[in-house]
Amino acid sequence: MSTPTPSEEHPPAVLISVTEIRRRPGSRMPVERTLVAQGLGLTDVAVPDGSAIAFTGELESIHEGVVLTGTADVPWTGACRRCLKDLEGVATIDIREVYETKPTDGETWPLDHDQVDLGPLLHDIALLALPLAPLCTDDCLGPAPEAFPAVVEGEPIPGDDPDPEPAKDPRWAALDDLEL
Ligand SMILES: [Zn+2]
Repeated sequence: MSTPTPSEEHPPAVLISVTEIRRRPGSRMPVERTLVAQGLGLTDVAVPDGSAIAFTGELESIHEGVVLTGTADVPWTGACRRCLKDLEGVATIDIREVYETKPTDGETWPLDHDQVDLGPLLHDIALLALPLAPLCTDDCLGPAPEAFPAVVEGEPIPGDDPDPEPAKDPRWAALDDLEL
């Protein structure tokens, strides 16, 4: 209980013990956890304080740590960028992250004392999931269509896949071999 209290900038910890699956690389466990949102907002959109960011997926043990895969549902509220009508929605985000005992800064997450902490991950994911320019309907013209043109920058064109699945990491291929 002598641990210093984290500052408000730190998201609350959502700890999971992975001792069981760490005994044998390749073993898995299901994971369902939530982070209660606090102070997660941008200028015009936010995850309402007190709402639940829910993760569902699994952890798989690898030699250096564990791999977390699954999806997070991120509730958000905001205003239509054209007509300013109040909006709400849920963004579903695919997650695949590695927790390891010797994490690489910016690439993998720390695994300390056989525990992973979903708090910081879900916090970051939620901020990334917020729509930057929400619309009430795709063809909302708003009060001033000429001032706010109907094409949202960065929005994918329907039928065009802007983010094809990346090539398989050779480390995963090695892992697959181990499971044979
Ligand atoms: Zn609108």
